[in-house]
Amino acid sequence: MTFELYKLPYDLNALEPFISEKTLRFHYEKHHTGYVNTLNSLIKGTDLENKSLEDIILATEKESSQQAIFNNAAQTWNHTFYWQSLSPHAGNNIPDGDFKEAVSRDFGSIENLKEELKKAATTQFGSGWAWLILESGKLKVVKTSNANIPLHHQKPLLTIDVWEHAYYLDYQNRRLDYVQSILDNLINWNFAIQNFHQI
Ligand code: MN
Repeated sequence: MTFELYKLPYDLNALEPFISEKTLRFHYEKHHTGYVNTLNSLIKGTDLENKSLEDIILATEKESSQQAIFNNAAQTWNHTFYWQSLSPHAGNNIPDGDFKEAVSRDFGSIENLKEELKKAATTQFGSGWAWLILESGKLKVVKTSNANIPLHHQKPLLTIDVWEHAYYLDYQNRRLDYVQSILDNLINWNFAIQNFHQI
């Protein structure tokens, strides 16, 4: 099986002015495409070829000899998830319902949740990801390094890419400004809600 590049659900300039078309073009057409193509070439002719992306990730993450496959599979997955975590029509409020109640229960308020995401995103040393996850029925914010995904007893609901390639053209070293801009303007709460309700 050959993995296809996930099709962006919006135009390359749709996230401007918060994420430029230039950044999105490099990020999607070079980085994400590169991970998919490398993954396909690495699994070709191996017994991983017919597995799902999630199964490849779980099968390779503890095997140092399969680090390259894990990295490219996980980055393929992470970017598909990240594009959906952003939306040009985000809106700053969480619609009423079970998810909003869980945010109040576990964080106190949406503002506190955003602060936690900001803290995770800005304190991740080096490349990685900040996540909102569901674990044992509770919402939590976690960070991971490099390609790692909280995918065992956790269900990811949202992610923010904090690799430099996600923001350097627009924000240079100012990761905080990129994260703040995303949190204020682009976070797709409806995607989190959809994941929250998915069994
Ligand atoms: Mn990236």
